[in-house]
Amino acid sequence: MLFSGRVLAAVILAWSFLKVLFARAFSRKSGLALFHENYDADRLPAVDPDERALMPRFSRCIACGRCDLGEASRIARSNGAYPGLMSVVLASSRSMPDHDAAALALDHVPDEVLAAKERECPTGVPFVELARFVRAKAALSRA
Ligand code: SF4
Repeated sequence: MLFSGRVLAAVILAWSFLKVLFARAFSRKSGLALFHENYDADRLPAVDPDERALMPRFSRCIACGRCDLGEASRIARSNGAYPGLMSVVLASSRSMPDHDAAALALDHVPDEVLAAKERECPTGVPFVELARFVRAKAALSRA
């Protein structure tokens, strides 16, 4: 055998590193353009710095169920599209490819209700901003 295990691993690693450097130096696309090329087909839109700053607040939910109080009639009228606000916060809004479903669900909750529930949420999940984010990303994914 030409190389021992460790030497072979080092050679492969060095070769891969050189290939990455070469590709970066001579690739036409980089940054956001490359991101779109890699992730648009997976329905993963890019986020801007303001959205990125908001995201930790979207994931504050402790599953207390308080935001589902009073939602029974909206859930029933939605014919399965709206499973309750807690489910939207904990499930469909957490994954961008599922934002179509989250946007459909949130269409059953008026913004003034979302704003009122923000004041009741013990961890301050910003429902109105979350709905805006989900709708914007769902629209981008569809486009
Ligand atoms: S009220 Fe807030 S913490 Fe409680 S389930 Fe709803 S989003 Fe989560």
